[in-house]
Amino acid sequence: MTTRTPLMAGNWKMNLNHLEAIAHVQKLVFALADKDYDAVEVAVLPPFTDLRSVQTMVEGDNLKIKYGAQDISAHDSGAYTGEISGPLLAKLKCAYVAVGHSERRQYHAETDEIVNAKVKAAFKHGLTPILCVGEELDVREAGNHVTHTLAQVEGGLEDVPAEQAGTIVIAYEPVWAIGTGKVCGADDAQEVCAAIRGKLAELYSQELADQVRIQYGGSVKSGNVAEIMAKPDIDGALVGGASLDAEEFVKIVRFRD
Ligand code: PEP
Repeated sequence: MTTRTPLMAGNWKMNLNHLEAIAHVQKLVFALADKDYDAVEVAVLPPFTDLRSVQTMVEGDNLKIKYGAQDISAHDSGAYTGEISGPLLAKLKCAYVAVGHSERRQYHAETDEIVNAKVKAAFKHGLTPILCVGEELDVREAGNHVTHTLAQVEGGLEDVPAEQAGTIVIAYEPVWAIGTGKVCGADDAQEVCAAIRGKLAELYSQELADQVRIQYGGSVKSGNVAEIMAKPDIDGALVGGASLDAEEFVKIVRFRD
């Protein structure tokens, strides 16, 4: 059986300036210093403007706090005002990049084609994409949440070779649970995460599907994380609001304590 190291990632969204970022990561570093976190990987996804500051905080330490960006341009360079490319993120030694977050899909009209181009851009520059997928409330109420989410997985991975797909992280984030306080029940989250693994097996192989980490995201807090993490196909959490409170995020990371 494949062992998947859980990944707890904090998506700061458009919060915390570079000075606040330093103070925040410092708290994480101190709070996790007494533990051996080989068993749980920790990452933060700050705004672009914080990445350099965050890099200086975790550089050279062995605490395994990784960091990444919340978005990536599909292009490598050129006249794309306001965009941030893979080479720029790689230069800052980002490990991860969120791709296709529902807020990007909703407010920036990101289609599966765009998301797919961004997944490829991330891999091209050595970044691990966290491919975000999940349904809106009306889709769930109509009972189409699994089909909808699997179509996003397939769209995001189109023409992505197995050597790359095997290292991707997929975050199942039902849109109606993001920032709303409404958590998807652990059984419901498990249902979709298992279906995502099944889709990976169909697209690639069972072996590959067994190695990919699938996170749940949507109003995760210290009070509900253990129940979610107890599910066999859930390998971590993508945490928005609760990751802005260092103490709360540490409790989430230490869900096993
Ligand atoms: C997110 O932004 O990916 C997210 C899951 O947010 P929240 O935890 O606030 O619902």
